[in-house]
Amino acid sequence: MGFWNRFVGSRDMGIDLGTANTLVYVSGKGIVLEEPSVVAIDRETKLPLAFGEEAKKMIGRTSGNIVALRPLRDGVIADFESARMMLEEFINRAHEGSGSPRMIIGIPTGITEVERRAVKNAAREAGAREVGLIDEPIAAALGAGLPVTEATGNMIIDIGGGTTEVAVLSLQGKVLSESVRVAGDELTESIIQYMKKVHNLVVGERTAENIKIKLGSAYPSEDEEPVMDVRGLHLMSGLPRTISIKGNEIRESMSDPLSVIIAAVKRTLEHTPPELAADIIDRGIMLAGGGALLRGLDTLIAHETGIVTHVAEDPLRCVVKGTGEILKNPKILERILERDGR
Ligand code: ADP
Ligand code: MG
Repeated sequence: MGFWNRFVGSRDMGIDLGTANTLVYVSGKGIVLEEPSVVAIDRETKLPLAFGEEAKKMIGRTSGNIVALRPLRDGVIADFESARMMLEEFINRAHEGSGSPRMIIGIPTGITEVERRAVKNAAREAGAREVGLIDEPIAAALGAGLPVTEATGNMIIDIGGGTTEVAVLSLQGKVLSESVRVAGDELTESIIQYMKKVHNLVVGERTAENIKIKLGSAYPSEDEEPVMDVRGLHLMSGLPRTISIKGNEIRESMSDPLSVIIAAVKRTLEHTPPELAADIIDRGIMLAGGGALLRGLDTLIAHETGIVTHVAEDPLRCVVKGTGEILKNPKILERILERDGR
């Protein structure tokens, strides 16, 4: 990049490259882009046809030559080329001016060194001058407003689409963390399986996600169980059919993946040094990520661990807000950029 570029309108960017959603924050502006992490590709030419929301609408609705895929599906980069194209597209949409920005990108803790490099290269190809990577739990904690720079222990649980990250943080660093590949997608998948097995009804991923959001819960509440009409294809007749579903059925159908998440939380607590565990008991557990919006999940975690559990404000945006916090702090920003090489 030329000497002059450094001075012309290049605003730094923070990116949450999530398995379900990608968000972009631009310095001085705030969050400028929120799109599903989906790419629609022409099978023959291998060229992208649509990105984000537009591509997500095609999932399960395309035939023949168009395939809508999620490049980060299970918390790893499942399809590198489409991940690169998607990142490039979103960066270009968010970027204005002619300069080349510095970027902070939140990535799942479970990804490999090769994948870390792949993300950095993709960002560079999309025009980044310098790229720093940050573990999602740290960004999520910053975005949730936890005092991560203090010497107290904090626990953050980030439940995304593909992965659940459980982390204990203190003094800006991760003391310990665990990443399990069970999160929102698995909850949705359980609903698909349940509808098929119990109601002989075949429903797609989007319908199942809708059921989860409208009807799903992790813990019974005192309110009456909600009810919903679900449309799908009847297994026996192969014809469309509408079936009325109740909230408690959906809660029960999700119990397996929910217990995997609970087990990860308990394991992390067991391995937490006692002083930090005492802090966590005082301060409570913080939930972030889209999965935190599942009704009653905070109550379930509190019930299972005996520790007060809070849902972050705006849980879907914690990670990207956290990258924004880093951009505002020159000292931390420099340290991350320095570490990741220039
Ligand atoms: P990622 O960081 O992996 O991109 P997100 O934090 O964006 O994931 O969360 C996406 C997940 O949150 C999806 O599985 C989605 O179904 C789930 N989700 C979003 N809103 C809700 C809701 N209201 N109730 C339950 N789950 C939700
Ligand atoms: Mg996330």
